Amino acid sequence: MADVTKSQSLANRYRPQTFDEMIGQQHIIWILKAKMQSDSSSLQNYLLCGPRWTWKTTSARILAKAINCLDPHDGNPCNKCANCELINSWKTTDYIEIDAASNTWVDNVREVIIDQAGYQPISLKKKIYVIDEVHMLSTAAFNALLKTIEEPSGNVCFILATTELQKVPQTIVSRVQVFNFKKIPQDEMVAHLWNICKTEWFEFENEALELIATISEWCVRDAIKYLDQVSVLGKISTENVSQFLWISTDATIKSFFEIVKTNDRNQIFQQIDKLAQWTDLQQFAKQCIGYIDAHIMDDTDFYLKVSETFSEIMRQVRFYPYPAVLYKIAFNKFLWEGWEVVPVKTEKKVEKKTEQKTEKKAETEEKKEEITENKPDWDLWERIISQLQSSTTRQVFKDHMTIDKVTDNEVSLIHDNNMIAKTMLEKEHKEIETLLEKELGKKVTLNVQWMTKEEYFQRLMWM
Ligand SMILES: [Zn+2]
Repeated sequence: MADVTKSQSLANRYRPQTFDEMIGQQHIIWILKAKMQSDSSSLQNYLLCGPRWTWKTTSARILAKAINCLDPHDGNPCNKCANCELINSWKTTDYIEIDAASNTWVDNVREVIIDQAGYQPISLKKKIYVIDEVHMLSTAAFNALLKTIEEPSGNVCFILATTELQKVPQTIVSRVQVFNFKKIPQDEMVAHLWNICKTEWFEFENEALELIATISEWCVRDAIKYLDQVSVLGKISTENVSQFLWISTDATIKSFFEIVKTNDRNQIFQQIDKLAQWTDLQQFAKQCIGYIDAHIMDDTDFYLKVSETFSEIMRQVRFYPYPAVLYKIAFNKFLWEGWEVVPVKTEKKVEKKTEQKTEKKAETEEKKEEITENKPDWDLWERIISQLQSSTTRQVFKDHMTIDKVTDNEVSLIHDNNMIAKTMLEKEHKEIETLLEKELGKKVTLNVQWMTKEEYFQRLMWM
């Protein structure tokens, strides 16, 4: 297989063409092959369901060929006869693939099913319709489909595929043969990559294949694509994989945690800067959480604490323009808390302190009261913006500002100075004040504190 079509990408070359070339779905393959061997001529309709990237559409195409093949082997299509050739090269109108999720099909899928399904096949034995993401069909299209399935002409076969079985009408499900596809297990994926490396004469490390399998999140096509890309660098090693795909190895993560454990802020910051140069910090946070999950029993207290820090990072990292700064803020907080200092309250009190009341003199009750009073009420902001009419405004307000403090007659809003949000807020200022008054049952002034994006996120972290 390898030398015939060297110009094709690796992923295309290794896209299965027969049932036997598929991995991870043996429970289904076995039945389909047996079916093809016994009664490929007696026509049935199929529904292939399961998570994304489990080769449902690939199977549909193989099945279409197996039904039409002039020289099948063991239930597999031969991929050489005229009919297999016609399907492989898309040169027949008897084989139709419809993506129900695509807009181009939404309007005419009903007509396609009603108008064309009645005609005899022209070049193939059976006319095959593959409808991907079939749960997206309109009710009218489902009715047309149901009618065609209920009154089989003997020459048409529907192969439906979906990621959401529960959204397919029961009337359809009960009239087709359902096959459940499962996620491809890690060891089968690694074995598959191993075989490809052997066939392609790639030099490789087993650990690197495992890393690729993990990163591709069980999508075989992506895994092969990564293999293809890394092979350009030479050996498929963990080093090359991490370098090329901007991901980290377990060793990098482990050494990062060792540095964190030293509690040395300079060292930690230096390491963050280093990581930022060659790794995707969003992906790194995800990998660290995975690492913590696997190693939590090694040092439970430490990993629990550091997992909180990474949860905070994960929450913000997509919206934060400088992930390294975000990491530093988060680990700074981690270190402070580790030293059992409570910086949040101190910082806030310095800002708006009344002269006569110092922290030391304050009675416990007073302290408690003040903390409760200053505690940001996340829900309050959610409640207020949920009452706004425009969904865009609601989203923008949610993303760029939040309530920092509520006092007797004032509500402080912090804002990251996003221009659009700023303009919108100026327009809605009065309306928000009114909503706040209703919500709190008293007269309040809305006081907005503009901040830079960094200050804003820093403040969120301290909350
Ligand atoms: Zn064939």
